[in-house]
Amino acid sequence: MMVPPDPPLAAPPSAANGSLALGLPPADAYTPANLPPESISRYSRQLLLPVFGPTRQIALSSSRALIIGCGGLGCPAALYLGAAGVGHLALADRPGDVVEVTNLHRQVGHTTDRVGVEKAESLAIAVRAINPLVNVTVVDGSAFAGGDRPGGATAEALVAAYDVVLDCTDNVAARYLINDACVLGGVPLVAGAAVGTDGQLTVYNWEASAVDVARPPTGSPATPVVGTLLPPRKSSRVCLRCVFPVPPPPSCVGSCDTAGVLGPVPGVIGVLQALEAIKVLATPAAVAAAPDDPAAPAPGVPLPPSGAAAAAGLTVLARRMLLFDGADGAFTTVTLRPARPDCAVCSPARTVTSTAGVDYAAWARGKPRAATAAPPVAVAAEGAAAAVPRSTDVDTASGAPAAPAGSCSVVPFQPSALPPHLPPAWRLPADAFAATYFTPAGAAATLLVDVRPAAQYQLCAVPGSVNVPVDGFAAAVPDLATRLIGGKDAGEGAAAIRRMVIVCRRGNQSRVAVAAARGAGVEAVDIIGGLAAWPGFPAY
Ligand SMILES: [Zn+2]
Repeated sequence: MMVPPDPPLAAPPSAANGSLALGLPPADAYTPANLPPESISRYSRQLLLPVFGPTRQIALSSSRALIIGCGGLGCPAALYLGAAGVGHLALADRPGDVVEVTNLHRQVGHTTDRVGVEKAESLAIAVRAINPLVNVTVVDGSAFAGGDRPGGATAEALVAAYDVVLDCTDNVAARYLINDACVLGGVPLVAGAAVGTDGQLTVYNWEASAVDVARPPTGSPATPVVGTLLPPRKSSRVCLRCVFPVPPPPSCVGSCDTAGVLGPVPGVIGVLQALEAIKVLATPAAVAAAPDDPAAPAPGVPLPPSGAAAAAGLTVLARRMLLFDGADGAFTTVTLRPARPDCAVCSPARTVTSTAGVDYAAWARGKPRAATAAPPVAVAAEGAAAAVPRSTDVDTASGAPAAPAGSCSVVPFQPSALPPHLPPAWRLPADAFAATYFTPAGAAATLLVDVRPAAQYQLCAVPGSVNVPVDGFAAAVPDLATRLIGGKDAGEGAAAIRRMVIVCRRGNQSRVAVAAARGAGVEAVDIIGGLAAWPGFPAY
């Protein structure tokens, strides 16, 4: 039998003014001074978590984070950091880097109607829409681009205003610059990378507290360690240069633009970057480091309890590297060796004392690769039988990492030579050639060879072209030449009017192929700018 509820004695007071009408204290009388009532509801699901709770929420809401790179990693990182209630979220990207349609399958902070909008601005709109309590700002990212930048504030001065930096960039020079800036500026760095189906993640420049490192040794039974102080391990503070003293050769560095990427892969790494940043920020030390932050607790408001107590239960991914193999659905965490005593930026013997005036892009292009004294991976700490996952691609000769932590470092790309310079007479403008190709005489006179990988050719191709990927082009030249000369079958003189025109995606690999063809005596020409410059050809 249903029992009807008692009628209310009066309308329930609203949090805003009803309690005042009844003579009761306002809603904020029930919450800590720096945890306003609206935060109680918004963050309730993480506030309920014993390992997080109001102490960490207050610390997080009083902290400042800088995300550099607003693409596949930066989007999920910003959305989750903003949703979690970081106090101040600054977004930086290269000036002029705007949202493109090709970004949208993975850069989930952007939308179709914001194509053409600068990425940092677009992402700021998305974060503000989720959480208006967060102070979101857009900052000039040119200081982190990696090139020489005379004048202006140094990168280390810029990062020093924040409690954590998230490196969500996609090039090696920027990674080293940001690393150096964070070391010199004294800021923890959450570094992520993803391309293809692989990703990696670690936290540089972070010293774990005594409790933070008080994890049971690998292989021991999993036991709670909250509040258990064990002898600290070696320092957890390492930097990118400690792990990878020199950048990879440019020929070994690819990008999502050239190598492709499955959208959820950077999504996974970006979300985990947000998680690590939250753990870093939700500690009292991070709050205390920014006393001038307008979002910091007012004077007289006690900061959260001691770092040791607040840190219990959450372990920052410092001096460890998480490797994600999306193709296999596998996560592996490996422990990195301690800081290098001769590290160029974080050791007492450092030679890098400022990023000012340093052209990191040129350095990353031209620095000869040297062997490191020891491999970066010390032991497989969790979950892996093998000490080094296949995706780290360790150079067995030197014991050094073959492909350091650039955006694409986890995938060993095929080295390729820089495209040769060709005389102007060997090159054709894309628009002019396309106009003649689509005439009966033009098509009949041309053997159009597309040297892109087969997968790209299957994606979209010029009608009538043939696909010979550049890797096997040189070997195929004799056969292709026969097809030219095969014009004999069509009658005398046919060979004289047929020509080999080589095209690729952007006009680089086609130059390699033209050089190979010319070396074999075939007077081939290529298309300037490749299919990217071909009028009406689908962009990808
Ligand atoms: Zn170092």
